[in-house]
Amino acid sequence: EQDVLQNKTGHASTESLEESLNDRPLDVLVAEDDRINRLVLERFLAAQGHRVVSVTNGRVCLEILEERPFDVILMDIQMPEMDGVEATRHIRGRTDARRDTPIVALTAHAMKGDRENFLEAGMNAYLSKPVDFKEIQPLLTRVTAGALSEKGKANHDEYMREN
Ligand code: MN
Repeated sequence: EQDVLQNKTGHASTESLEESLNDRPLDVLVAEDDRINRLVLERFLAAQGHRVVSVTNGRVCLEILEERPFDVILMDIQMPEMDGVEATRHIRGRTDARRDTPIVALTAHAMKGDRENFLEAGMNAYLSKPVDFKEIQPLLTRVTAGALSEKGKANHDEYMREN
């Protein structure tokens, strides 16, 4: 049982189970128009065990989200056709559970006031580019903590009905 509870760093503790649950594979939607940034994020997230779908602008991001839910969205701010702030406003204006999808802004500018703009648009957090990979997993864990995916909610509701 100790082995099961052992996390990646080799520490076994009562917190390990919680950590491993928090680090569960996530369905991540990456919206980023820069090809290199997109590829690097895709590879990093896949290497962490996450399932990644990536798109190159906010409009396509909305189209994909219309088709299926995601656990979290990494959203570039500056994109052609529709930028990250506008896409976020559309998502937060939905009337279904996808409205609450955690959104992390990817931003090259960390100007004073930008952070407030992103949060005001409904984003949950932001990562400055170039992204520091050490920051990604802790941030994903934090923004998805307590937020069950729609799939998770459906399973939870079923469990509650049957038990
Ligand atoms: Mn961009």
